[in-house]
Order: sequence, then C-alpha cells, then structure tokens
Amino acid sequence: MLAAVRDLNRLELAGETVRACLEALAAAAPGWLAGVIDVSDWNLRYGVRVDSWRLPTSETKRTALTTAYGVDGFTLLEAVYAPEAPAWLAQLPAVEVLRTVLVHNYTRTVDRRGREVVKRREADVDGLPPGRCRLTSPYDAGARWGAKRDMFWCGYKVHVSETCTDADPAGAAQPDSEDPPNIITNIATTDAAVPDAAMTTAIHDSLAQRGLLPDEHYLDSGYPSADLLVESATRYGIALVTPMMADVSAQARAGAGFDVAAFGVDFDAQQVTCPRGRTSASWSPARQRGTDTIVVKFDTDTCRPCPVRDQCTTAGRGGRQLTIRPRHIHQALQQARAWQDTKAFKAKYALRAGVEGTIRQGIAVTDMRHARYRGLAKTHLEHVYSAVALNLIRLDAWFNGLPVDRAHTSHLARLELALAA
Ligand code: SF4
Repeated sequence: MLAAVRDLNRLELAGETVRACLEALAAAAPGWLAGVIDVSDWNLRYGVRVDSWRLPTSETKRTALTTAYGVDGFTLLEAVYAPEAPAWLAQLPAVEVLRTVLVHNYTRTVDRRGREVVKRREADVDGLPPGRCRLTSPYDAGARWGAKRDMFWCGYKVHVSETCTDADPAGAAQPDSEDPPNIITNIATTDAAVPDAAMTTAIHDSLAQRGLLPDEHYLDSGYPSADLLVESATRYGIALVTPMMADVSAQARAGAGFDVAAFGVDFDAQQVTCPRGRTSASWSPARQRGTDTIVVKFDTDTCRPCPVRDQCTTAGRGGRQLTIRPRHIHQALQQARAWQDTKAFKAKYALRAGVEGTIRQGIAVTDMRHARYRGLAKTHLEHVYSAVALNLIRLDAWFNGLPVDRAHTSHLARLELALAA
C-alpha cells in the first residue's frame, strides 16, 4: 500500500526535511525564525519543494548539496535547542523529524584541526539504521520502504482476514446460493517494513478479543513459522493451513543430497541417525539469534570414509552437522512439510485463494492500495472503513440475491437478473 506522500531518495529526503521544518517554524514562530536565519537567503534553497527543481547530476555537486542540507539542518536544530529559544519549539513534530532524519543520514564529527565535519552516512563505512527504523518522508513518519521479491514501495501493508466456508476458490456467493458471503473479520495495518510473520500472533490476539477465532487459519506462506505452528495450536487451538518455508540447508536448496528430513531424530535418546544408518556423536542445545536450537554433529571418523559423503556435507574436514529445533517444533514442522506435498493439502489450501478476490475487490472498490491519509493510525482507520464497506456490499448482495462481484458477472447473467426483477 502506497503512502500519501512522494517517494524521495536520500538527497531529496534530507532537503525536504529541512524545508518541512523551516515551514513549520515559519508558521509557528515567524518572529523567532527571522531572528536566527537570513530568511531571503534560505528561501533561495528552501522556498519550493526540493523535487520541483532538477537536482544536479554530477556526483560532486550532489555530494556538495547533500552536505549543505546536513549543515543547514544542524544549524537549524542548534538554533531551536539554544537556551534562549522558546522551549516549545523543540516539541514541534517537524523538529523531531528533522533531528531523526539527520541522525539516520549524517555523521557530525570534529577533525584534527577542531573543525566540524558534516558528512552523509554511508552504509558500508558508517552503517545505516535498519530499514524498519528509517524515516522515508518528513510528512509521514509512519511510512517505511517495503520489499517483496522484485517490488519496492514506500508506505504500509494491510493484512486482511475473512471467513471462508465455501470450497469455491472464487469465494463469492452465487445469486442462488444459500451460503452466507465471506465476511472480513479482521484488518491489520503495519508499515511496509514489518514482516508478515510478525503479524500472525497479533491477528490471532485481535480475533480472540472479539470471539472470532477460527478452528483453521488459511495463510499465505509469508505468515507462518515453525514456532507459530505450535504457538497457534497451544495458545488458541488454531490449526494453520499454510505452506511452510522450505528447508534452507544447502542440500535442500540444491534439491539433491540429504536434507534434515532424511535424518531420523530420536529426542529421547538425544541422537540422530543418518541415511547410512550411522548415529550422531554430539547433541548440544543452543540459542541462535534468540531461537532455541539443537546442534547435532557426526564424528569425523564416521563421515570421512562414507561413500555418499558428497551428497551429505560440504565440510572439507569434520563430519556432518545439523541444526534442528526442539522436539515439539521439529515434529510440527516436519509434519507440515510432509503434508504440504500431498494432494489433500493442495485441495484444501485452494480455499485461501478466495481472499485474493477480497483484496482485488478492496483495491477496485475502495482503492485500498493508496493511502488517503498520513500516518499509521489514520491509514488503519481507512482500512477499517474499507472492510466495513466491503462487508456491507457483500451482505446487501446476499440479502437481495445479487452477485457480489458485478465486474466479473457476465452480461447474460445480468440480463437474467434484470428480467427476473
Ligand atoms: S556423511 Fe556421515 S552423516 Fe552423512 S550419510 Fe555419510 S556417515 Fe551419514
């Protein structure tokens, strides 16, 4: 979902943020601002939107302009935070946005001669804050850059949950259907940098608060994880119906050799048996990046003479090493991966496709892909209204025996309805 602001590169962001702060100060404290800057001089650079004039193409000039924006920004902040300045100026949202953008995008140091040096922060030299923290516009502090496969956008994500009881993948009630229409039961909005999997539990919490928890939750593959499979079942009694992320081991990625599923795991004996019938030498519970794991190693003397070693490990020396999850998570993950390859799963999972029609309807009818407002709270409210509107359209169509999706109704079907009316 696209934010209601223009996309800005880092140079434009720096300049437009200084400009937005100047605008706010000129409106809130014009007399004070005229006393701390040369208004006509600053107006030459910041009188119009930064992207309304052609930015320099030469790298040298762009670097100089970037530095100038940074110097101007720090100069402005120094004036705002000076002891003689009214204290409330620092409370202005535009001032806080400028401070944040400067911290994210500039370094400010003192060289050996005692001179202040303002430089743009470079990712490989100075480091940059993670994308989920970085402001993308001075006018919408909630928007973030998001990426999905080869698509990038600045804004938000909307997560739609709806009922589904109809095996018809189209998900739409037919005019003569007795089945009630699918009803949107939850709408969640996040900035575009939040991963889908971070919202699964939040969506369940929201559904639980309103007594709308399902027995089964059909999800896109971005939402589940091994931990969520177990947590959803134990905490809310929900079975996740979703393809799990594939095993990311080198063997699984290559589609050849022995991935984790090829090994037998005996949690009671704390031992793993390989496809050649050899048993592991060590079993070490560990914590890796905040996740409980078990690192299993096979002995070097076991693996070195193995005739299928090249299908098992790429280690130059040493034996095969596996990282598995604790028992309940490992077993849930292996079961889910085995199930998702069956025809029964594919037939069942086809039901999830109905929500794609809901998203398409949300885009076509309520323009859900474009934010009308700025900020996460207002954008979420917009999504709630969109969901209510779609539910009312569906209920109205169902009560009156009309097709839900008129855009996909044939002219012949509409003629039949008109004649029957
Ligand atoms: S390399 Fe080691 S772990 Fe792999 S199959 Fe051979 S003996 Fe088993």
